[in-house]
Amino acid sequence: MKIKFLGTGASEGVPAIFCQCDICKNARAAGGREIRTRCQAIINDELLLDFGPDTYAHILRYSMDITEIRYCLITHTHSDHLYPEDIDARAHGFAILDPALPPLTIIGSGGVRDIVVRRGGNKVTDDGRVIFRQAFPFEPVEFEGYRVIPISAIHSTKEPLVYIVTHGGKTLLYAHDTDVLPDGTLYRIAEMGIFFDLVSMDCTEGIKHINYRGHMNIERDLIFRQKLCDLRLAGADTVFVANHFSHNGRLSYAHAVEDEINRGLLIAYDGMELQI
Ligand SMILES: [Zn+2]
Ligand SMILES: [Zn+2]
Ligand SMILES: [Zn+2]
Repeated sequence: MKIKFLGTGASEGVPAIFCQCDICKNARAAGGREIRTRCQAIINDELLLDFGPDTYAHILRYSMDITEIRYCLITHTHSDHLYPEDIDARAHGFAILDPALPPLTIIGSGGVRDIVVRRGGNKVTDDGRVIFRQAFPFEPVEFEGYRVIPISAIHSTKEPLVYIVTHGGKTLLYAHDTDVLPDGTLYRIAEMGIFFDLVSMDCTEGIKHINYRGHMNIERDLIFRQKLCDLRLAGADTVFVANHFSHNGRLSYAHAVEDEINRGLLIAYDGMELQI
C-alpha cells in the first residue's frame, strides 16, 4: 500500500492566512516542509482521504488527474476536510467526462450525508456523477479490493469517523481528527484481529497543551501509540506518523523532527510518500 500525504495542516493551514505568529512567519520565510496545506491523503493513487478546500491546489501541485478516481472517504464535516462546492464540479456543466466512467462515490457518516446529499436519494450531483454511500461505525465497507472499517472519532462534529483501510494485506489507521480512541473502541478493534502497519495520528496541538478533546498533541500521540502496542494492534514494525499540524501547536517541522521531540514518530509533511 502506498500512501501519499497531500496536505498535512489543520483548519487554517500553515502559515495561517492572516497570522503573524512566529510559526507562521517562519513558514513564510523558510517555505518547503514548513508549509502545510489542509489535510488530505491518497492511497495507491486511487482512494482519496477527505476532500478539503486544498484539493484543487493538490491536483495542480502533484500533477494529479483525479477524473477517474472512484472512491473518497470523508472523515467529518469540518471545512478543512470537506469542501462540497468543489465536489459539485464533477457535474454536467462543470466537467466533460467520458459517459462510460463510473460515478465518484463519497463515503462518510450521516453528518457528511446531511451536507453533500442535498436532493434526497444517494445523489450528490443531480446527474448521479457523484453518489453517496453512508458508513456506520464497525460496519465494513468493501470495494475494489479495499476493506474499510469506519470507527467513531472523538471530535466536535456530527458523527465524525476515522478509518481503518486494508488493501493487499496491509492496514492503515487514518486517525484525523480525533483524540485518543476510547479503550472500549480499541478492545473491539483488537478482537477483530487487526494489526496496523501504519498509523497516522492527529497532532494539531503539537507541543502545546490546549486540552481540547478532539485533537491530539505529541504527548497524546505517544499515549495512543503505547495503547495500540499494548493491545498488539501495532508493534515494532508499525510506522507511526504525526499529522494534521496547526500553527497554534507551536511546533515547526524543523523542531518536530528533533529526536527528543518526536520520540520515534514520523513527522508528516506535504508530499510525503510512504510504502507499507
Ligand atoms: Zn481538521
Ligand atoms: Zn500563526
Ligand atoms: Zn475537524
